[in-house]
Amino acid sequence: MRWRDRKQSTNVEDRRGTTGRKIAVGGGLGGIVVVILYLLLGGNLGENNPDLQLSPQVNIPTESRPLTAEEKDAGEFVSVVLADTEDVWNMLFERQGKSYLEPKLVLFTDFTTSGCGAAQSASGPFYCSQDRTVYLDLGFFAEMQERLQAPGDFAMAYVIAHEVGHHVQDQLGIMERVMSLRGQMSEREFNQVMVRLELQADFLAGVWAYHAQRMQDILEEGDIEEGINAAGAVGDDRVQRMTQGYIVPDAFTHGTSKQRTSWFIKGLKSGDLAQGDTFTMTDP
Ligand SMILES: [Zn+2]
Repeated sequence: MRWRDRKQSTNVEDRRGTTGRKIAVGGGLGGIVVVILYLLLGGNLGENNPDLQLSPQVNIPTESRPLTAEEKDAGEFVSVVLADTEDVWNMLFERQGKSYLEPKLVLFTDFTTSGCGAAQSASGPFYCSQDRTVYLDLGFFAEMQERLQAPGDFAMAYVIAHEVGHHVQDQLGIMERVMSLRGQMSEREFNQVMVRLELQADFLAGVWAYHAQRMQDILEEGDIEEGINAAGAVGDDRVQRMTQGYIVPDAFTHGTSKQRTSWFIKGLKSGDLAQGDTFTMTDP
């Protein structure tokens, strides 16, 4: 992906270097495992996810250290991608006569606090609707590369765009509508609706890539493949197979690799929001 020396977002808050201590907070190992299963790619923490109990906010002793050149690079990359999502979603909202409230993005290491409670890197990237913020520990990208075999800068861009997709759902009122269904149906049924919400975030990541390419010519050879590979790599069936050795369909929160890939591609090819009603449309 073409990202060096490009416009960066002003909405990034970099907490790396001040949150570099590992602190065990609540939940214990069982809690962490649950968090990994449910949030490997950006489920929503806190009140949006019935399966999570977040620890209360705690004050953590902070220590400062300067960021390495590599860390600075990674921060710049994230900031450029976030700026790209701002350009695209500002434009698409404007087209619909709406205004887009840009999300914040917090970079952290190991542990931080969020409007949805305490966040650990084990949670994976997530979006908190309470403070309209994407939380990202860049260690997740190393994890994608090594454990999930989803390398490449565009794979990372896809993850960021997926999280921003949740923010877009939030802005469009979709998230609120979905959350209001909780308690109106069985847990199993509600989980299925949550899968559709996740698949839509994948579709929206594809829509972003379509327009970012048109506006900024961001793609380099191999990028599309990296994104598609990443969408498949984080599918629940593959993730669960790796962590548990078997698949538990009712525990899916993100969709299978095939579903995630196909919705991402649909967004990527069409760039058309009208084609992304994952709740009523059949899988592409
Ligand atoms: Zn998600």
